[in-house]
Amino acid sequence: MKAFHFDCGRTCPRGLGLFGKAFTSVAPPSFVTRVTLLETSEGPILIDAGYPRHFLAAPERYFVRWAALRPQAGVEQSAAERLKAVGVNPRDVRHILLTHLDYDHVGGVVDFPSATLHVLDAEVAAAKAPRLGFERLRYRDVESVLAGRRLVTVRSFAHPWHGTVSAAPLAPLASVLRFVPLPGHARGHAGIAYATDMGASAIDAFSSAPEKEGFSLASWTLHAGDAYFDDRELDLVPFSPSGLVSGRRELLPESSPEFASAAAFRLLVRATSLLHADASQAARTLLLLKRLRGEGLRIQCSHDAAGFLAPPVGRVPNSMERDHP
Ligand SMILES: [Zn+2]
Repeated sequence: MKAFHFDCGRTCPRGLGLFGKAFTSVAPPSFVTRVTLLETSEGPILIDAGYPRHFLAAPERYFVRWAALRPQAGVEQSAAERLKAVGVNPRDVRHILLTHLDYDHVGGVVDFPSATLHVLDAEVAAAKAPRLGFERLRYRDVESVLAGRRLVTVRSFAHPWHGTVSAAPLAPLASVLRFVPLPGHARGHAGIAYATDMGASAIDAFSSAPEKEGFSLASWTLHAGDAYFDDRELDLVPFSPSGLVSGRRELLPESSPEFASAAAFRLLVRATSLLHADASQAARTLLLLKRLRGEGLRIQCSHDAAGFLAPPVGRVPNSMERDHP
């Protein structure tokens, strides 16, 4: 399977600069909105859908969201237009796998009317019965966005996957496509893992035995959604996490690099508590991601702009990446 990455909405969220370089290494501080297109035997599949065309065409009409996000993008950055530009008809997209139901991830599904939507059950439950405050705000448009849509709630985590659990949203692609729960940012936040660099014969060989972990971790890429916001966050996670989230640090000598890392990590956890529904859970998710990266997994989050600004040689520029040219 091949994967293509698009920036489907550059924003300069108000307050991002307050975090300094903790969250973004680019200037001015900005987020990209990663949407990944997978070319599969089941047709084109999207991971997340970014903002909808109508929002990017006239964001100032949606004043609260416009004032908070300060989009720097036009309608040409919508996922539907990005796909058209590379010759994919939005109507041909049959499935969209959603990391969670925040507007910048789910809003764009309105431009893909034929697609079945796949979301973790815990996230659907959160959107249907939001807790007072933050959840009421974040899910306020979900009902209208999902109205009349074919929605598959992903609930069976029957497939072991490199030391954690996973679900296979599409049976024919079970050996190469998985939901991996990454809770913290939202109640039902998930990563989507896909295997890219093997031939069709290998995929066929594994499809009859999806319960096996199949390919080595180095063959997989994980779209980690909003589990983190800046790639360097994974470097800050200490190797000895015990008690660090809750502030216990007496076991580390103050002069040690681990102490500095732990201090930075605690600061980060405090800062991200503004962005994550459950900061402690999000911190545990970071630990899992750090382990998986250490074992060879390629991990990308939704909003880190750095990778899109300087595409490596051989990649397609103009805010589009391609995993395997
Ligand atoms: Zn987001």
